[in-house]
Amino acid sequence: AMKLDVDALRYLSKDDFRVLTAVEMGMRNHEIVPAELVDRIAGLKHGGTYKVLKNLLKHKLVHHDSSKYDGFRLTYLGYDFLAIKALVNRGVFAAVGRQIGVGKESDIFEVAAEDGTIMVMKLHRLGRVSFRAVKSKRDYLKHRSSYNWLYLSRLAALKEYAFMKALGEHGFPVPDAVDCNRHCVVMSLVQGYPLVQVKRLQNPDEVLETIVGLVVHLAEHGLIHCDFNEFNIMIDDNEQVTMIDFPQMVSVSHRNAKMYFDRDVECIFKFFSKRFNLSYQEAEDGYDETEADVEEIERPSFSSIAKTAGFLDKELSASGFTRKDQDDIEKFIEGGTEQKDTTSSDDELEDQEQTHIEATDDSVAENIDFLDLEDQKQEDAAASCNVSIQNEDK
Ligand code: ADP
Ligand code: MG
Repeated sequence: AMKLDVDALRYLSKDDFRVLTAVEMGMRNHEIVPAELVDRIAGLKHGGTYKVLKNLLKHKLVHHDSSKYDGFRLTYLGYDFLAIKALVNRGVFAAVGRQIGVGKESDIFEVAAEDGTIMVMKLHRLGRVSFRAVKSKRDYLKHRSSYNWLYLSRLAALKEYAFMKALGEHGFPVPDAVDCNRHCVVMSLVQGYPLVQVKRLQNPDEVLETIVGLVVHLAEHGLIHCDFNEFNIMIDDNEQVTMIDFPQMVSVSHRNAKMYFDRDVECIFKFFSKRFNLSYQEAEDGYDETEADVEEIERPSFSSIAKTAGFLDKELSASGFTRKDQDDIEKFIEGGTEQKDTTSSDDELEDQEQTHIEATDDSVAENIDFLDLEDQKQEDAAASCNVSIQNEDK
């Protein structure tokens, strides 16, 4: 489990955050941000930037790379601190507690609001697993690996937040979406346990019907969860169900929609059959006549569900998550679209990414009074450095 030592947060100064933010901004165009560029963006007097960088390095918030030139990049921890600082400044929470979950691509912590309310903070770590797998197959991201884990993790968090919010507004049992910053989503704490930890249920057939009903209800709203299993379904003491974990959801208009839908259903049926001994209709023609007198739970069929694809689009984009974001993220999340060649040139890709990153400019920058430099100057500094680095690469 990753240790998130937030104590250091308390000791970091305004200048520390200013320089950390400068590294983040530099990463728009650089995998490794030249120290000189960090200095130009941060604009601290008397070589202050270099002293601060040393301090950030000591706290493992940045990584030093001098293989090609003297440069720095954010670590996960550095990115975590920027998100946490922004959310603390916004008054979303005041303290970070213990880690309650380690997913394949996330770390989950308890956080506490000023008034003591406990919530959950999910830090997305896209790139820890699947992005690497993707990266090995695609080379247009060759020089952008560090950059892209920031971008993709941020996109995953935004998607999760947008879906959680929209689903909650439509009455689905999901955690309350509280806020989102960078790769971090804050949500309400679900009282209960993941289904995988539940050994006994009072009414397993009722719970199964509820859960299968959710898959169907989602599809009626134009959505498929795509990772609907005993790890992403929480059950409380009253056997009430809450679903979590949405970064991989797709629309029913996705070309593999039926497969994903059937897979979600099959996952649930298989688990209930094994753990709670419930029977259900076999897929396709595997229906067993000898068990005809056992009461079985009906298998929902994807084709018979009236689907209103795109029903949630408006709500999703209200949270800032666009159709294009969805297309982007599907390329990288396992179980998303099959590999296909991109038609974007590198330049187009860069433009798109720029747009996304610009959209993240937020309260950290504002709160540390970072934007007193004119935006244009920063862009110029970044652009001129980028050119010289590319030349060095050759
Ligand atoms: P991942 O994408 O890494 O699988 P999840 O969102 O599924 O992350 O969360 C991982 C685990 O953390 C869950 O299985 C659950 O035990 C716990 N968890 C996540 N969100 C909450 C929440 N809102 N309340 C309580 N526990 C949660
Ligand atoms: Mg999960």
